[in-house]
Amino acid sequence: MTTASEALFARALRVSPGGVHSPVRAFKSVGGTPHFMHGGSGAFLEDVDGQRYLDFCLAFGPLILGHADPRVRDAAVEAVRRGWSLGTADPYSLELAELITARIPWVESIRFVNSGTEALMSALRLARGATGRAKVLKFDGCYHGHADSFLIRSGSGLAGQAVADSAGLAPSALAETIVAPLDDIPALEAAFSAHGSELAAVVIEPIPANYGLLPQTREFFGALAALAKRYGALLIFDEVITGFRVAFGGYAALSGIRPDLVTYGKIIGGGFPVGAYGGTRELMALVAPSGPVYQAGTLSANPVAMCAGLATLKVLDAGGAYETLETLGARLEHGLAKLPGVLCQRAGSMFWICVSPEARRTAPIRKLPGIPVDAASGYKRVFHRLLERRIYLAPSAYEIGFLSLAHTREHVDTLIDAVAAALEG
Ligand SMILES: *Cc1c(COP(=O)(O)O)cnc(C)c1O
Repeated sequence: MTTASEALFARALRVSPGGVHSPVRAFKSVGGTPHFMHGGSGAFLEDVDGQRYLDFCLAFGPLILGHADPRVRDAAVEAVRRGWSLGTADPYSLELAELITARIPWVESIRFVNSGTEALMSALRLARGATGRAKVLKFDGCYHGHADSFLIRSGSGLAGQAVADSAGLAPSALAETIVAPLDDIPALEAAFSAHGSELAAVVIEPIPANYGLLPQTREFFGALAALAKRYGALLIFDEVITGFRVAFGGYAALSGIRPDLVTYGKIIGGGFPVGAYGGTRELMALVAPSGPVYQAGTLSANPVAMCAGLATLKVLDAGGAYETLETLGARLEHGLAKLPGVLCQRAGSMFWICVSPEARRTAPIRKLPGIPVDAASGYKRVFHRLLERRIYLAPSAYEIGFLSLAHTREHVDTLIDAVAAALEG
């Protein structure tokens, strides 16, 4: 019997590469046919075959209030009613910018764009414009969107050698991006001593969450911040996932480390397409039209997205949200810790389930080579067993899971029980 999803996927394969508009949605790494979802509500997604799934993927992070939160929906619908694209100065982006700059002191000035990728591209251009330098240092296992400069990883051979993570990159991107391993202070010192005076910026996901969840130590950040300062490279925190997720002010707020520039995405648009970059007034003054670093966008600060983002951030700013999410996250972590053959690494409401008998032994995993080689096959098995039980996790062993304020203790317990059953059978 062909399901409605299978029929749609067959059609989609004819008209789009891999049948999808972002690679991980295709189920390629877990196998099977992607389920076509036609909507969501609270903690649940519903597919075109009429099945409901308890969702822990949550659109890969933006939906911290859950699907179709009525407060966000009302704000977006009102914005649509008033006119959904103005192409002018407007009060909605101003209100969102004022809220963020009032609450996050290291963001004195902010520019809204349409995606996390755009935010990173623009922040890097600004760093180059501010320093007059070309190179950027990034870390293996961090994702910063799909601009050429960031689709670079370290090679398997010589230390410091970088290789393209995609076909079609400009060769100059490869020459200008330096890649260092996470959690390795000596390698970081070596990268700075070789390239420090040419670095416009060093960019990091402060809680790396795109290749599993790989928490870094305070010592590592201490060394990173000190080296960036000593060599005059700007420190960019890519808080596209962690911003408004681990705390309103992201990892910078939790750690007390002050980045020169910060990028946001995901939650900041409440599930609509928004990204942003910000920093000191002095640095941001270099951006057009006040300065020489050009950056623009026809649909930037779209009023529907701004109003949805503002409604979301107001809920988070009202208090209690992060305590609730931490309680749910801790419950999940403790529940999974009782199961053999699985490791859960977590930061607040972000979690990574690593399915491998090896994982516990090497925990905490802080860098790519620490991820067990059988993690992908282990996850694939658990993913499909969970899907049969109507629980939706991200369709990749290396994507993390999320909790939202629409999730309850019972939802968390359902996940723990389902993972336990999946590991047994
Ligand atoms: C998702 C993500 C991006 C890219 O954002 P898009 O909106 O997908 O372009 C960049 N950096 C981090 C840390 C992300 O998680």
